[in-house]
Amino acid sequence: MADPNGFLSQPRVDAAKRAVDERLGDWREVYRHLDPDDRDRQVRAQATRCMDCGIPFCHSGSAGCPLGNLIPEWNDLVRGGHWPMASERLHATNNFPEFTGRLCPAPCEAACVLAISPDSGGAVTIKRVENTIADVSWERGYVRPVTPAVSTGRTVAIVGSGPAGLAAAQQLTRAGHEVTVFERDDRLGGLLRYGIPEFKLEKKVLDRRLAQLRAEGTRFVTGCEVGGAGPGAMPVERLRAEFDAVVLAVGALRGRDAPNIPGRDLAGVHLAMDHLVPANRQCEGDGPTPVDAHGKHVIIIGGGDTGADCYGTAIRQGAASVVQLDQYPQPPNTRDDDRSPWPVWPWILRTYAAHEEGGERRFAVAVDRFVGDADGTLTAVQLREVRVHKNPTTGVREVVPLNDEVHVLPADLVLLAIGFEGVEHLPLLDALNLKLTPRGTLACGRDWQTTTPGTFVCGDAHRGASLVVWAIAEGRSTAHAVDAYLTGASDLPAPVHPN
Ligand code: SF4
Repeated sequence: MADPNGFLSQPRVDAAKRAVDERLGDWREVYRHLDPDDRDRQVRAQATRCMDCGIPFCHSGSAGCPLGNLIPEWNDLVRGGHWPMASERLHATNNFPEFTGRLCPAPCEAACVLAISPDSGGAVTIKRVENTIADVSWERGYVRPVTPAVSTGRTVAIVGSGPAGLAAAQQLTRAGHEVTVFERDDRLGGLLRYGIPEFKLEKKVLDRRLAQLRAEGTRFVTGCEVGGAGPGAMPVERLRAEFDAVVLAVGALRGRDAPNIPGRDLAGVHLAMDHLVPANRQCEGDGPTPVDAHGKHVIIIGGGDTGADCYGTAIRQGAASVVQLDQYPQPPNTRDDDRSPWPVWPWILRTYAAHEEGGERRFAVAVDRFVGDADGTLTAVQLREVRVHKNPTTGVREVVPLNDEVHVLPADLVLLAIGFEGVEHLPLLDALNLKLTPRGTLACGRDWQTTTPGTFVCGDAHRGASLVVWAIAEGRSTAHAVDAYLTGASDLPAPVHPN
């Protein structure tokens, strides 16, 4: 039984980070690896703060965990030191808790009943407990391949090996289908591999999970663009002929650009992914990156996760200076402050580990123009102080200069981290004759089936750029739909529904 007063005696203690000097000397994960006994004791104490609420808002609903993670159950199991059972309950709803435990901004913690009152000491450290169960599960061998008991003889192609594609692949393989994942890159993992920096997710964590999927029977083909023209490409007609169902988990990687800002074409102005992908490749041993921040004055435009990833990457590359710009004012310290311009915590502008590592953030500013030299190379950015507001008549968000004052910052490298606009213009979309939504994502019905029968969608390709936890939830739900399509009914879970 949970202790309803545990939070009164046990303060919230977040996972400890390594010292800044130490973590800037390598690319390893920011969080400190504690001695296992200390770690287990600390996390068991954190789990005692959970009250096992009658209505656990952390667990599901519009604000809680999209996967329906059984948070009060595994908190109680951890409290009692029952790690194998905690691992079983965690994996019952989440294929990859080691990814969510590291990368998810934890909407469950925002929804935790203890987050409501400032006197409670804060939400249960759900993310820390989850990540620890995941790490313990791997260390002690609780995670093993789960091979299917039967074979259905049905075949499924999954296009894309990010978290949504991998979750769908694991669910469908375990249901007895023959699953092949096609990845256009040379290595598996999608954004987990080439979008997320090593200091947030060491790729050995991804590789050990991929080994489990392989051992369960999922097949992988890398360097294969479905519908592409290059060597190793897979024609769409062949895909349709050889597979009974197709799942598109191609992400939403079309980066938002700023074509109207004068000077956008100058050498040195890049989209964020032009920086992050080669930096991750360099960590994989692929040689120097063409967009290296070393010795440069770096300006990052955009205050979200991608901007913070560029920030930490630029600092580790040895940038001369790093400045991150945001149009919104410096956020308040609490979610209750109604001055906050941000929709709902934790999607407010947050302070990331990277922001402790140097550099500077500037708020309530917008770039007026990029300044270059006679050779067309970026040398500076010109800023204005601004206010963002919603036009009461049109409802459109407007950015209004506050005064005529102009600020100039030196810049050799600008990284645009201002969001994504839907799926890329992939040849397979035309070949499959797929319809897009106004948000640039793939349209689908209530059964996740796109406008082409037998072809399904999940993850960012359906939802738009979102959280890893949503990608896994959609992958699981699409697997349910595909299983039902192939066999007439499905026992697989479907934690979420299409928009
Ligand atoms: Fe525990 Fe918080 Fe969930 Fe309640 S809302 S069950 S205290 S984690």
